[in-house]
Amino acid sequence: MHQTNQQPAPAHLSDITLPIPRPAKGCDVCGALMNQWRRASGTGAEYSPQRAEQYRAEILAHPHRKGAAK
Ligand SMILES: [Zn+2]
Repeated sequence: MHQTNQQPAPAHLSDITLPIPRPAKGCDVCGALMNQWRRASGTGAEYSPQRAEQYRAEILAHPHRKGAAK
């Protein structure tokens, strides 16, 4: 008899939810970083939680002055 054994889970940690960055509205730099974060946090070939975390940190660290946006 052949029983269907449960396969060990693949190395993908699909259950991990990466913290979503909050880019400043109207900031090109944050927007670009956000695009990179999406790619790094997605399921595509560029998936990389470490890089996603880096991008998020950069977005958080990006300084914005109130009223400076044109
Ligand atoms: Zn910014």
